[in-house]
Amino acid sequence: MLKNDQLDQWDRENLFHPSTHLAQHRRGESANRIVTGGSGAHIEDRDGNKLLDAFAGLYCVNVGYGRPEIADAIAAQAKELAYYHAYVGHGTEASITLAKMILDRAPKNMSKVYFGLGGSDANETNVKLIWYYNNILGRPEKKKIISRWRGYHGSGLMTGSLTGLELFHKKFDLPLTQVLHTEAPYYYRRENLDQTEEQFVEHCVAKLEELIEREGADTIAAFIGEPILGTGGIVPPPKGYWEAIQKVLKKHDILLVADEVVTGFGRMGTMMGSDHYGIEPDLITIAKGLTSAYAPLSGSIVGDKMWDVFEKGTDEFGPIGHGWTYSAHPIGAAAGIANLKLIDELNLVQNAGEVGTYLNEQMHAALDDHPHVGNIRGEGMMCAVEFVKDKDSRTFFDPSQKIGPQIAGALMEKKVIGRAMPQGDILGFAPPFCLTKAEADEVVSKTADVVKAMD
Ligand code: PLP
Repeated sequence: MLKNDQLDQWDRENLFHPSTHLAQHRRGESANRIVTGGSGAHIEDRDGNKLLDAFAGLYCVNVGYGRPEIADAIAAQAKELAYYHAYVGHGTEASITLAKMILDRAPKNMSKVYFGLGGSDANETNVKLIWYYNNILGRPEKKKIISRWRGYHGSGLMTGSLTGLELFHKKFDLPLTQVLHTEAPYYYRRENLDQTEEQFVEHCVAKLEELIEREGADTIAAFIGEPILGTGGIVPPPKGYWEAIQKVLKKHDILLVADEVVTGFGRMGTMMGSDHYGIEPDLITIAKGLTSAYAPLSGSIVGDKMWDVFEKGTDEFGPIGHGWTYSAHPIGAAAGIANLKLIDELNLVQNAGEVGTYLNEQMHAALDDHPHVGNIRGEGMMCAVEFVKDKDSRTFFDPSQKIGPQIAGALMEKKVIGRAMPQGDILGFAPPFCLTKAEADEVVSKTADVVKAMD
């Protein structure tokens, strides 16, 4: 095994890390953690630290680390057949079985699954499918996609554009022109603090209507949203939001994409986030929790309405020209099957709901009264603590103080991993579904200790 110093040097010399301050990292000014193992909700690093991972990697290791059932399924598939493609009707038992298992768990009126590798490419696929759909229907102008400020949908060209966070646009010439952004359903940060939740929903709807009117409904193809905003700050929608938004979309014949990369397969305490919020999507994006990140795999679940048009399209114009070499990769599919079975066998969807609710309740009890805790919010196995300089006026800390990263760093020293969300002073938690109440207590008590030490 390589010595720590050697690995550290090679890392800084050779590896281009995503979402990283590259110069600081290369110069050795920022932390470098080499992770070596994991079990349940914990990871271990090369320095012998054991950390409680209350963000499940990047909200993806939903069943927890070190599951032999998934590792064995991957090994068995690799030995039997590591790869064959899925083009022109080819399949493997693993990919066919997994597609069936996904549709059994999806909301009604879903028809087929197109497999990819990660959430970003699945959303790129979705946009192409939406454009194809409108071209087949003879509406070539109906192409723009509406997403929300603070939404996160990936960091490709189109998906980075859909993402409504400045960090992912800055110096990349994004967003592309086919993308429009509308108001985030972020009740705590509403401009008019006198608004009730109901009035704020009306405000979000009015903003959406204005945008559609300004651009012309005949130019707008789809609306994409995460059931609960994730990377944008873990923000549950205000009550009635999804129902009201869906009415507008139906009225203007605009497709709805539910980006369930984070919420799919249990995180909200329901199989899909769409079940939790009464969303009836035309397309669903899945990734992360599909395999609990044991292998890269994503999917676009296509609804009946679009599928019927796709069949007409191929009858008229021939095969659809969209494909990845690794679509429906058998190793990813084997991981997905074992993962979904494990979720059922261990009742993990229910546990995510129960322990997630407990985590949120305990966080409120511990920190609601703190003068710099402006808002604690969450649903299912997701929780966020938002820090403010002044509680009444909700003023932000000066960004140079980097309060979010500082608190996450101090918490890490206590061997609990939370995530400083990229925009605002927000500490996020999205633990594995196997989290116990005792582990939730540890997350809360250590967070409270760190926050109280701010005074
Ligand atoms: N969509 C959502 C809601 C996500 O949270 C993410 C990643 O965090 C993505 C899409 C992009 O997924 P990936 O990073 O696998 O490309």
